Order: sequence, then structure tokens, then C-alpha cells
Amino acid sequence: MSAIGKQPVSVETFDREVDYLVAGAGPGGMTTALVGKLEGMDVLLCEKSDQIGGTAATSAGSLWIPGNSQSRDAGFDDTVEQGEIYMDALVGGETNRTLRTAYLQTGPEAIDYLMARTDVQFIPCGLHPDYQSNRPGAAKAGRAIVPKGFDGRLLGKDFERVRPPIAEFMVFGGMMVGKDDIPRLLGRFKTVGNFIYSAKLFARYLKDRMSFTRGTRVVMGNALVARLFYSLRKANVPILFGARIIELIKDETGVAGAVIEQGSMKIRVRARKGVVLATGGYGHNKEFREEFMPQPIPYLSLAAGTDTGDGMSIGKQFGARIAPEEHGSGAFWTPVSITRRKDGSKGLFPHLSLDRAKPGLIAVNKAGRRFVNEGASYHDFVEAMFETNKLSPTIPAYLICETAFVRKYGLGAIHPGTRDLSSFEASGYITMAPTLRQLASKMGIDPQGLDASVARHNGFAVTGPDLDFGKGDTELNRFNGDARNKPNPCLAPIMSGPFCAMEVWPAEIASSTGLSTDENARVLNTEGQPIGGLYACGNDMASIMAGTYPGPGTTLGPAITFGYRAALHAAHSGPPDAERPKLKIVS
Ligand SMILES: Cc1cc2nc3c(=O)[nH]c(=O)nc-3n(C[C@H](O)[C@H](O)[C@H](O)COP(=O)(O)OP(=O)(O)OC[C@H]3O[C@@H](n4cnc5c(N)ncnc54)[C@H](O)[C@@H]3O)c2cc1C
Repeated sequence: MSAIGKQPVSVETFDREVDYLVAGAGPGGMTTALVGKLEGMDVLLCEKSDQIGGTAATSAGSLWIPGNSQSRDAGFDDTVEQGEIYMDALVGGETNRTLRTAYLQTGPEAIDYLMARTDVQFIPCGLHPDYQSNRPGAAKAGRAIVPKGFDGRLLGKDFERVRPPIAEFMVFGGMMVGKDDIPRLLGRFKTVGNFIYSAKLFARYLKDRMSFTRGTRVVMGNALVARLFYSLRKANVPILFGARIIELIKDETGVAGAVIEQGSMKIRVRARKGVVLATGGYGHNKEFREEFMPQPIPYLSLAAGTDTGDGMSIGKQFGARIAPEEHGSGAFWTPVSITRRKDGSKGLFPHLSLDRAKPGLIAVNKAGRRFVNEGASYHDFVEAMFETNKLSPTIPAYLICETAFVRKYGLGAIHPGTRDLSSFEASGYITMAPTLRQLASKMGIDPQGLDASVARHNGFAVTGPDLDFGKGDTELNRFNGDARNKPNPCLAPIMSGPFCAMEVWPAEIASSTGLSTDENARVLNTEGQPIGGLYACGNDMASIMAGTYPGPGTTLGPAITFGYRAALHAAHSGPPDAERPKLKIVS
């Protein structure tokens, strides 16, 4: 039986003593550990798996930071005030007001701090619209930042400690490709510049593979966690691997420390200034999934396998408050298709931004009816699946297009430019048929419904506006559409067979229900009072977004900002050590 979630134990003896004990080496935990150390605390970071990075290692790595100075320096004029107008329009009222304000005010400062004092470096995304781009205060550009690519060779052998990205996001079995690389790689035979660029990437990758199990040129979320890890090493922060937090230790003022299980050892660690729960949320905790997510849905999660809700279980046992009613459907969602890998295993491919908004694709349900603006954000797309499913089966939903669309734009894990689709059809990843009727019958979709939906959509593609769902109306739609397509960059007729269908399912990229905290990430008890010495950040902390998804970086922005705030609070505002009872330290 798991030791997680047993009753808190009381103070007797300790094996180790530090100022700040952090559980979980994802972006939340690594940020707070790093800032804690730079603020003068003696820090210990423990990580349950053998690698750092958690879910973030597989993420796109975007951070949503309104008013960030990196974008301003690059000439974009977003402000914290505009960000506040947007969040007010989205979240509304007083829900999480104090936390929202703290987030908006500290986000830019946290990034500047990391930029100035560590190797955690960011660059502005430039054009990257907010996800509800029709709302007041929404930005078209200048709000999202991404980590600078990182050279994994700087970590030496420790590069293998960085959790790799999703297999489907790498090419040649281990080479990372960023969004900017895609057009150059696809157009490698079109210009000399592209050819040289692609050849250099490939040559570097081949060289890497002589010493490493994958390419060391890392980008996106992998670069973020590798940079945090590199900075932690430079700052001499000890990391215990294969070490999980299993219990909190109580004293008169709250939390005195925690028990860490490493192999067969149980290490009782005293934490003079605080314990941080940053164990990545509850993605792989079946009970919490059933309690907090819409039901029934299949158990499909993009969270790291080690994110099993430990922080929430431990916090709850200690009397912490969890407030699901404030967090919508309990998670941040994306539609996924289920890939079949060469070794027979299955993978989840998140349909984040590359295919759904493109012209010539619709999403329908079992009745063959459209139910959403296909170019909406991944989160809003799945929320529409949940909503429509209450009335008519919409889980799974089906992406419908011509096979010519797949060759041109790609579909899920099928790269643009793929000519031969037969292996994808043979594995069941896509279904193809010469007519829409035959396609519908193969997929079990109502054929008349599909015919009618395609005909109506094709009419909009000719006249321009999508009168049913507004595909092409928002900045976000147009950003992910195809500007060359007229009159609507997101609509083109679906007319010529063979046609293609792909099933998509809801899966979460992050959980949003978590431990309630104050604006300094201090965990609150069921009376709303901070529990002394206990902090939470990353997805262990309840999302401040109240079930909404404002833009690219909705979870990593807060993970880093509140990790930063927790460390500053613990380092400078915690109770003086003299207030704590005298404890017996066992060496
Ligand atoms: C495909 C994809 C793309 C995404 N893109 C973005 C994006 O661009 N922007 C964005 O904001 N979000 C994005 N996300 C979501 C983002 O990755 C997560 O919200 C984020 O990683 C959460 O950070 P965390 O530190 O809470 O958890 P994690 O990154 O999951 O790290 C948690 C760590 O805690 C460890 N752990 C678990 N239990 C214990 C224990 N008991 N003791 C010690 N350690 C423990 C885990 O092993 C893990 O290493 C994306 C997610 C996916 C899947």
C-alpha cells in the first residue's frame, strides 16, 4: 500500500536539517529551490523519479506574462494593466482577485530576476494572440515568452537526467524540432539557406548520438527545465533523485519538515523555513480524476507518470483546503489522437495549434454535426466537447478533411508533406474513404448529418464568414490558419475524395484543481488560514485562472511566478527560527 497520505506524524527526531525543502523537480519546484538558494537559504530538492523536468519537459514551454520586459524591449507595448483588464473580463468578479493581482504584479519581476541571476533565459514570442482574443484587454503580441534554446552538452552526463520530450515531437528518434525549425526543414530543398540550416541540424544531431541517447539541442519546455537544472547545479543546490515526499511532520506552528522516502530509506528532514509541495498535480491519481474531472471520460493524461497527486493528498491530510468549484472542469485540456508507435505502444498526440484552424478541416460528433469553432484554443475545444456531449455523443469527436489537406498541412502526428498515408491507415491512426458517406459509415458517424455539415461549411468557405461557429473570426484563428487562403484563412471546401477522419479525445495537459493558497503560495487550511511552513506551487497549487485559459503559458507563468513568491516569502518573512520548538537533530 502507498505510504502517501498517511496521518501527519509529530516531531521526534530528524536525519537532516535544511531551511527549505522542495518536493518535485518540475518548473514550479526547481524555480522555488533556485530562488530560495539565491536568497540565502539552505535548500534541498527531492524528486520522485530519476529525472528532472516532469510534464514541463514535454511542454511547449510558453509563459504567459503580461507586461514582461523582454517583449517591451523588443518593441511590443503590452502592460500589466491591459493584462488585468483581460483577466477581469475572463475570470470576472472577485474570484482569486488577490492572487491574480500578485501574479500580474510579480510575473515580470520574477522573469527579470531569473534573467539577471541565472541561466534561465527567455525570449519574446512576438505575435502570439491570447486565446480569447475578442475580449477586452486581449493582446495579439508581446504577452508570451519562451525559453531560449539550450545546449544540453553543458550538462555533460547529467543531460541524461533531463526527461525527454514526447516521442512524436522528435524526428529521427531523438532530434527536437522547434516551431521555427519546421518551415526550414520542410523547405530544405527549396532554398540554399534552408538546405544548409537543415544539414547543420542533422550533422549536429548525428554527432550528439555518439555520446547521448538523444539530440542535445533542446528547445521549448525541455530547454526551460534543462536551464533550471543547469542553474541549480551552478548554485550547488543538492537534488535527491528517486526520493519522494510521503508525509509532513507537524509542530506547534504548522509544518516542521517532511519524511522523504528514497529506496528503502525514510529520511526525516527538518525544514526551518518551509516545505514546498510542487509534485505536479493529480494527473495520474484515479480517485482525484473521478472527483474533479467531468465524468465519464476515458483516463487519458499527458502529465508525467509520476504526477500522482502526492502533494494534494499530503496537504489534504494535513487539513489543507481544496476548492474544486473554483476551477471549472478540474484541468486544462487538449484534444489528443492516439498514435500507434513502432514498438506497439500507444502515444497521445496533442492537437494544440498546427492542424485544427487550417482551412479544409471540420470537427463533428457522432451525429455528424459541428459543435465548435475548430480553431478555438485546445482547452476551449475540449470544453465544447464536454458541453455538447451532455446532449449528443461527442467523445470522441472526429476531425474530417480531404487526404490532400493531410499532405499539405499535416494532421496530428502526420507531418506536413507526408505523401504516403497507407501506414497511418493500416495502424488505425486515420481512416480513409473515397466518399464522405463511406467515411461516415466506417467511423460510425451519421452519414446524413455529416453530408449536411460539410455542405453548409463549404458554403461558408465560399462566402467567407462561418455563420455557425465563427471559425476565422478571431486573431487566434487567423494566427493558426493559412493567410494565403481566401476569403477566410480558416475555411476551405471539403469536396474531393479520398476523405480522411481521425478520432480525437479529451486529455489534460495540466490539472487546475489543487491546494488553495494565499498570494505567497502559502497553503490554506479549511478555515482559509495559512498553514505555517507549508507552500505549494506549480499544479499542486490551485490554478488562479478559475477554469479559464487566457493564453499561451497559462500554467508555466504562474508556476514560476508563485515559485518565486514562495521562496521570497520563506526567505524573508517566515517566522524567526527562535519561535520554533527546540528539536533533536540526529546526524
Ligand atoms: C504537450 C504539453 C504542452 C504544454 N505546453 C505548455 C505551455 O506551453 N505553457 C504552459 O504554461 N503549460 C504547458 N503545459 C503544461 C505544463 O507542462 C504543466 O502545467 C507544468 O509542467 C506543471 O509544472 P509542475 O512543476 O507543477 O509539474 P511537473 O512539471 O509535472 O513536475 C512535477 C515533478 O514532481 C515530481 N513528483 C511527483 N510526486 C513527487 C513526490 N511525492 N515527491 C517528489 N517529487 C514528486 C514529478 O516526478 C515531477 O518531476 C503543457 C503540457 C503538455 C503535456
